[in-house]
Amino acid sequence: MSFLNSEALIDLLVSEQLLTDQQRQFIVLHKGRQRQKLIKQQLACRRQDDDCKQEKELPDLVDIIVSFDLESGSDPKVPLTEEMIMRAVSNGLKIPFKKLDPLELDISIVTKTIPRSFAINHLILPFAMHDGILEVVTYHPDNHLVLEDIERANQVTVRPYLSTRTDIKKILAEFFGFQRSITAAETQFGTTGTSSTIDIGNLEQYVRLASTKELSSSDQHIKAAVNHLFSYALEQRASDIHIEPKRDLCLVRFRIDGILHTIYKLPKAVHSAITSRIKSLARMDIAEKRRPQDGRIKIGRREEGQEAEIRVSTVPVAFGEKTVMRILNPDVIFQSLDNIGFSRRDRVVYNSFMSSAHGIVLVTGPTGSGKSTTLYSTLKQIASPEINIITVEDPVEMVHEEFNQIAVQAQIDVNFSTILRNILRQDPDIIMIGEIRDLETATHAVQAALTGHLVFSTLHTNDAVSAIIRLEDLGLEPFLIASTMLGALAQRLVRRICPHCAEPYAVDAASLRKLGFPVTGKETVELKRGKGCLQCRNTGYLGRLGIFEIFPMSDQLKKLIATKANDSELRQVAIREGMTTLREDAWHKVQAGLTTVEEALRVTGEIDVV
Ligand SMILES: [Zn+2]
Repeated sequence: MSFLNSEALIDLLVSEQLLTDQQRQFIVLHKGRQRQKLIKQQLACRRQDDDCKQEKELPDLVDIIVSFDLESGSDPKVPLTEEMIMRAVSNGLKIPFKKLDPLELDISIVTKTIPRSFAINHLILPFAMHDGILEVVTYHPDNHLVLEDIERANQVTVRPYLSTRTDIKKILAEFFGFQRSITAAETQFGTTGTSSTIDIGNLEQYVRLASTKELSSSDQHIKAAVNHLFSYALEQRASDIHIEPKRDLCLVRFRIDGILHTIYKLPKAVHSAITSRIKSLARMDIAEKRRPQDGRIKIGRREEGQEAEIRVSTVPVAFGEKTVMRILNPDVIFQSLDNIGFSRRDRVVYNSFMSSAHGIVLVTGPTGSGKSTTLYSTLKQIASPEINIITVEDPVEMVHEEFNQIAVQAQIDVNFSTILRNILRQDPDIIMIGEIRDLETATHAVQAALTGHLVFSTLHTNDAVSAIIRLEDLGLEPFLIASTMLGALAQRLVRRICPHCAEPYAVDAASLRKLGFPVTGKETVELKRGKGCLQCRNTGYLGRLGIFEIFPMSDQLKKLIATKANDSELRQVAIREGMTTLREDAWHKVQAGLTTVEEALRVTGEIDVV
């Protein structure tokens, strides 16, 4: 007879003051009958519900004591729970108690050291391994022979901890179920999966994220793991999720405010199952593992009525398929133009672009500089039922119901140019062209502007006036540039100082001047930085902010364009006419305590100081 089924347990609980003498008498008197009652309940449950069929163990004395709904012997207001009993046993028998946290556990240690059936039969869970010591939680304090078997089989010393049967069983089911359940999850997806999702169109697949409560009780472990990954990424404000196969394990990393953090190290065995799950959600070919693929997933969170879109891409690397998922959070993509970081002057100039009847506005910057956010936020602000907005994108980044969005499909020869050739028949007022890459697209943009349309587009240039040079390099006539272009802006994203832990500090003015910041007079300057706190994961930063340089087309610039002036001549005129450079705008935001010197230098480092 095991300890947890013996009267020695009751004695221990009394001496640990968890039970009173009166309660002891009550339990001893009624336990036989209560056991019969619990067994009957189990049988009834087994007939009704498949879940109960796995329930093999008969109720033990711990179950019986808990089922009496007693109060704690030391505190009548507290109901007696399984964890309280096991903590008392731990105390009485001098075996430490371990509260299991699934996020702390190394799944590979759990699943590699002992077979599943052995773990489940003996309610044993190995959870950590170091210096030849295997730490194991067990439910039964008198499991000595079993622990000795593990020591012999693994050539280790076992250090036992006690935990509750409920926790051990739950984690064993989740971990050992991980691999087995992906097969089931995939099969289910193939047959009935689509019925539980909402189809929004060819482009996307809609997946409702279960709430956290549902996740833990779900039996579809891979599904739950992937759902957990998505909701955790949203919760952490991650912009990208990387799933990288290594030789022995699989790394899950999140990009948060521009910086990659390793979040999980999963056993290698789970990698392909998780990748397959993501690929099937993104409607990619699960069987194709040697070619790069793209797809997208739309996720919504029930509680918050929030939706996000995830762009998925997979590429084969040395140890398997690497998956990168870009999370397009509508809260971030569609912002109020008041919040993205325009200075007052820049906002006035940009507003004049937006209220123009026709012309071309160019947004420039490298990948990841926030161009899409600026354009989407602009279109959203302009959008109204009377205005027809058409976008041509490669690919469509974020779907918005007020825009008519057309995706470039190079493989069937639907490119920017072919779409733009036909788009004017759709009577648009405003056209957004994802990117101008060639003369043909540039020419279509000019034609649209000349026929009375407002055109927004992007170019890959480092600064604003280089947009003019780039269009010339593509082969566009200078007079067409001068007559259609309303202006251009260049932008970068800097990390915003965490408001929860911002603190002032003094910086030497001379050293700032050396770095190229326009600091005048004073010996020291007071700036701000983030100390690091829970809210910002000790990075000192929370969220991001745009820095801009923007110029409107002017008569002076038009003259220079006609004479094919170079970029530094154009730039000087733009600055003379009021343009704040990226470096200056960054410095203003450092002074305002919004970002740091380091961030300003990081994103404007490659720019020449004029
Ligand atoms: Zn902070």
